[in-house]
Amino acid sequence: PRVSGSEWSTAATPNNTESDGSSTAPDAASFTSISGWTFTPKYLSVGRRVRGGVLRSPEPGRNHHDERVPRTGSGRRWSRRRIAMAHDRWKKPAHELLRVNEGFRLEAFDATRTPGWKGGSPGAVKYMKKQGVALADLQERLFADGRSGGHRSVLLVLQGMDGAGKGGIVRHVIGLVDPQAVQHHAFGPPTRVELSHNYLWRIRRALPTPGALGVFDRSQYEDVLVVRVHDLVPEAVWSKRYDEINAFEAKVAEAGTVIVKVALVITADEQKRRLSRRLRLPDKYWKYKPRDADERALWPAYRDAYQSVFDKTSTDVAPWHVIPANEKWYARLAVTELLLEAFET
Ligand code: AMP
Ligand code: MG
Repeated sequence: PRVSGSEWSTAATPNNTESDGSSTAPDAASFTSISGWTFTPKYLSVGRRVRGGVLRSPEPGRNHHDERVPRTGSGRRWSRRRIAMAHDRWKKPAHELLRVNEGFRLEAFDATRTPGWKGGSPGAVKYMKKQGVALADLQERLFADGRSGGHRSVLLVLQGMDGAGKGGIVRHVIGLVDPQAVQHHAFGPPTRVELSHNYLWRIRRALPTPGALGVFDRSQYEDVLVVRVHDLVPEAVWSKRYDEINAFEAKVAEAGTVIVKVALVITADEQKRRLSRRLRLPDKYWKYKPRDADERALWPAYRDAYQSVFDKTSTDVAPWHVIPANEKWYARLAVTELLLEAFET
C-alpha cells in the first residue's frame, strides 16, 4: 500500500483503516508515515507542533519521542488530587490554624513561626506550584458559574503594616489565577470625591461582581486603623465603625460573597530590615515613602488599633486570620490555602 518512492502514504493506508474498512483518519489532508506517525497540516492541537502543522503519534499515550506517557485524566480530577495532597502537609485546615480566636493577643504573637506546615520552605515552594493549578481551576469554575447566573464571589481582604508583604501576596498568590477573573483594588488615602461620601462608599463600589475573585490591598479597616492612629476623625466617629463594618460585611456575605480576611504580621525588626532595603536598593526605592519611618514610630498605637479590629470585627461570616509573615514563603502558602478552602465552601 505504500506509495512507491515516497516515505509518506496518503490517509487511506492500513494504518488509518480498520479491518472493516471504516476510516479513522482525521481527514484526507493527513499523511501517515510507514512508522504510523501522522502529519496533519495546521489543525489538531494534540501532538508535537511542527512547521506547518502537527505531528501525531500513532498511538495515544506515546509522546513524539515514542516514549510511554502517563494518562493524566481530566483537569478536574487533577485538581482534586492536588487539594487532597495539600491536606497531607497541613496539620489542620489553615482557616482553623490561623483564625483569630477568643483571647488572641497580638502582643504575644510570634511572627517568625510557620504554624501547621510540615513541608518546610522548599516543600512550600514546590507545593505552591501545584496548589496554583488547583486555585486557578476552582476560580475558573466560579467564573463560569458567574457567567451562567450564579451570584457567588470571593473577596480577599489584605491588611498589614508597611512591608508586611501585601504586594507579594498579590503577585505570588493572586498571580496564579487568570487575571480576567481578578478584581484588584488598592486603597490609598481617600480622594476628594471619596471624602465627600461615607467611608464605605468606595468599598461598596469595589466589591467583586459574581464569579470574580476580589482583592482589597488595604480596605475599610484603614478607617479604624490609620484613621484612629492619626486622629483623622474624632473617636466618637471611628468607634462606631466596627459595628458598621460588621453589618456591612454581613450583607455582603448574605449576597453570596465569601470574605477571607487576612492580616499579615511581621516583627518590628523585620519591618526595619525591609524598609531599609527599600532605601538601599534602587529597584525597591519606589516603594519608600518618607512617612513610612514615622509610621514605624507609631507601632504600639497600630498594635492597639489592630487588636481592636480583631476583637470587634472577627465574626462568623467574616472571621480574621492572622498570618505570621516574617517568612514570606509561609505567608504566601497560607493565603493560597485559605483561598482554596474558601473556594471549596
Ligand atoms: P500603600 O499601601 O503603601 O500604597 O499606602 C497606602 C497609604 O494609604 C497607607 O499609608 C494607608 O495608611 C493610606 N490609607 C489607606 N486608606 C486610608 C484611609 N481611609 N484614610 C487615610 N489613609 C488611608
Ligand atoms: Mg505598601
